[in-house]
Amino acid sequence: KEAGKNALRFFDPAMQAAVEERVALENDLRNGVLENEFRLFCQPQVDACGRLCGGEVLIRWQHPVRGLVMPNQFIPLAEQTDLIIPIGEWVLRKTCETLVEWESHPSLAQISLSVNVSVNQVRDHNFVERVLAIIDDCGANPARIMLELTESLMAENVEEIILKMNALRVRGVRFSVDDFGTGYSSLSYLKRFPLSELKIDQSFVREIALNQHDAVITEIIITLAKKLGLGVLAEGVETEDQLNFLLAHDCSYFQGYLFGKPCAIELFASSFMDLMEP
Ligand code: C2E
Ligand code: CA
Ligand code: CA
Ligand code: CA
Repeated sequence: KEAGKNALRFFDPAMQAAVEERVALENDLRNGVLENEFRLFCQPQVDACGRLCGGEVLIRWQHPVRGLVMPNQFIPLAEQTDLIIPIGEWVLRKTCETLVEWESHPSLAQISLSVNVSVNQVRDHNFVERVLAIIDDCGANPARIMLELTESLMAENVEEIILKMNALRVRGVRFSVDDFGTGYSSLSYLKRFPLSELKIDQSFVREIALNQHDAVITEIIITLAKKLGLGVLAEGVETEDQLNFLLAHDCSYFQGYLFGKPCAIELFASSFMDLMEP
């Protein structure tokens, strides 16, 4: 016990540096929320004909010194603090504003945008009210919003989560399971939650043409989704081989570098004209 107390003072410098960097990052992130340093990127999603049918919005943090920070470097920290709430609300508001802007665009008026939502956002007691207030405030069509949830959300307080999802579903908001098959929850939640789509994780897609296990898992997710009446989207599609395998197994939607990398949402319309119908 004695040693345990003192260990705090004598831990190694690398560990101390990591703790200090974490504190600095949290301070910067808190400031970033106040100063509005975030940018929204968007990556195209296409159907089996290769036509644009949607996009996934992905956050970036434009820090004055750190440069463009990727979400994997700050979303986990935001989730461990209260910061994911204002950040998540900013993402949804920017998404709704974009959808309203696109209503007058001939090829973008029909597409949906998928928004990543963290477990802590949904667990927040005001979640449903906040989401609906933002949608209504912007005048966005809720039917064009897909919220991407992870399986971890569906493991605890199931009844409460179902009530929240249903309250949004009746307004037209849809739900997708992100990184499907990589979490720890049971398959039984699939029949209890009001879901519209499963997203096949890129870790399965990556070696689809080389690894028999990944191929089988992917095939079964596609079959499962279709038999349950859900849409199914493969993410991380980078090669023609991967696409051909997915098409042969009747996957409905695709997202990945083969079609386009995420770009600033303001440039989305001009960047992906080749994916729009003539
Ligand atoms: P995710 O939801 O699984 O998003 C897909 C990630 O894969 C994105 O990285 C995207 O740029 C990348 N990606 C897309 N196509 C390809 C491909 O063909 N090959 C490869 N190798 N990668 C591809 P990104 O933008 O860095 O986002 C990382 C994660 O950060 C996301 O993973 C998501 O979990 C989280 N995230 C991003 N934006 C938000 C947000 O607004 N809110 C929350 N809560 N989380 C977010
Ligand atoms: Ca996602
Ligand atoms: Ca994903
Ligand atoms: Ca992922």
